[in-house]
Amino acid sequence: MNKKIRIKTGNVIIAVGILVVIIVAIIGIFKWKEKLDYQKTDEYKLLSIGYSEEDTSFLIDNLDKDYLAQIIKDKTLDENIIKFYKQEYFLEKNLEDYLNYAKEHDDLTFSEVVAIINVGADKDWYEDSKETDTTKGSSLLVNKFNSLPADYQPNLVKTSNWYAYPDADEMDEEAYYAYISMYNAAKEEGFNIAMYSTYRPYDEQEEIYNDYKAAYGSEYADSYAARPGHSEHQTGLVVDVLIDSNYTRENFDTSPQFDWLINNSYKYGFILRYPKDKEYITGYKYESWHYRYVGVEIATYIYEHNITFDEYYAYFIGG
Ligand SMILES: [Zn+2]
Repeated sequence: MNKKIRIKTGNVIIAVGILVVIIVAIIGIFKWKEKLDYQKTDEYKLLSIGYSEEDTSFLIDNLDKDYLAQIIKDKTLDENIIKFYKQEYFLEKNLEDYLNYAKEHDDLTFSEVVAIINVGADKDWYEDSKETDTTKGSSLLVNKFNSLPADYQPNLVKTSNWYAYPDADEMDEEAYYAYISMYNAAKEEGFNIAMYSTYRPYDEQEEIYNDYKAAYGSEYADSYAARPGHSEHQTGLVVDVLIDSNYTRENFDTSPQFDWLINNSYKYGFILRYPKDKEYITGYKYESWHYRYVGVEIATYIYEHNITFDEYYAYFIGG
């Protein structure tokens, strides 16, 4: 009786033992399989390249799949990739250019590099310049890389002499009515925002530029006048405001009119087109008197985010 029980117990122990071995083996196989599978993941590969866990999850969540595959294939370890991705105006198509430009210009911030590459200002002014998309209405881009054809015809209206000086006798219709609203609002608060210069046709700009060039050479001409087709005045969307006898162009930004314009012009769709310290993006020296009509929505965005129209156009309108 006892023996029988003993044998049975022995069998059970053996059976349990075998079962345990099988279970352990199965778990082992699963673990091994799991490990092999994990080694195939982007996470494992990025960590192996040397990215931190945080950077790895950021790359997986944000990077374009093809680009991610390329990084893994080339084993590229560049933490600037993540820094550029986190920039507000990051454009994926420009990533390679940001990385290369940043390597050559370590004095620039990441947002400066993004701005320069987005607007194409890594090139020399006027290099590779092309005809701008003239169908954009009040968001037309004219700068040192985008020009208007000589025969471009804005929707011009005659300006009233009440608002204008002789040099400002025609303006784009929509921009002109926006200007009148702005003029009246400023007047109510005691400020005279009179027009000094508005629409300037291609031929006139050509004459101005060629006069400078003939007298002082093209380098000088380029720093003081736009080349024909590249002046925003040809759009009809611009107003140079009058600087009265109390101020000069150099100190107009200390005037109460300027102060009013800086804080209110966006409400009427106008922006300060060539702000201080943005020459490396706009290609123009600071012009405290030159206001560009872009419509209220765009002007408000530019005012609130403190960017140039060139940056806005590159990011939101494209081209
Ligand atoms: Zn101007």
